[in-house]
Amino acid sequence: MGVLALQGDAREHVSVLTECGAEPVLVRRADELAAVDALVLPGGESTAISRLLQVFDLLDPLRARLRDGMPAFGSCAGMILLADEVLDTRPDAQHLSGIDMTVRRNAFGRQVDSFETDLDFAGLDGGPMRAVFIRAPWVERAGDEVEVLARVPSGPAAGRIVAVRQGRVLATAFHPEVTGDHRVHRMFVDLVREQRRTAGSVNKHTGTDLKEVGE
Ligand code: GLN
Repeated sequence: MGVLALQGDAREHVSVLTECGAEPVLVRRADELAAVDALVLPGGESTAISRLLQVFDLLDPLRARLRDGMPAFGSCAGMILLADEVLDTRPDAQHLSGIDMTVRRNAFGRQVDSFETDLDFAGLDGGPMRAVFIRAPWVERAGDEVEVLARVPSGPAAGRIVAVRQGRVLATAFHPEVTGDHRVHRMFVDLVREQRRTAGSVNKHTGTDLKEVGE
């Protein structure tokens, strides 16, 4: 699997994915994208990543891969990029339409620019998850096919959606790559393995980049 490495905290995702038994590679060019069977979009600055996707001719190939069903996981700026509509962004920012949702950028406002909280995360055993939000978005509209995985539990933003899944595309408004809790990444790695199994042994996009532990 790949980690988009145009801007943002790609290296943190690489180290967590490695600890989860995957063998992630950095993706910066179209040929590198073509060689991976799943992609993580890191936190960072979504408008900068959007511009670099265009500069590196990755925007259309990436949209095409998502349309074809490539599993993806985006955290924070990655969530923004995976949306099909984004509020409070630059008019020229481009998005990937990987999830049928409307996301509001920098949604939590200045007072709570960055904060941490404990979330109940659907489908994960082991109790609440510590979540770190840094100038984070929230999901303002989630389409019918979108499963809501977590909401802000309390405070002024109580009830806001901060983790979603549509098919094999996952997104979190927070940064599971920085807390040491690897459950979301593990969920993603499992989902990629499941995709490989259902896609059969011959998949034009499959590399040998995941240890096939237990398979
Ligand atoms: N505010 C950033 C953006 O608009 C996202 C912040 C983050 O990824 N931590 O892209």
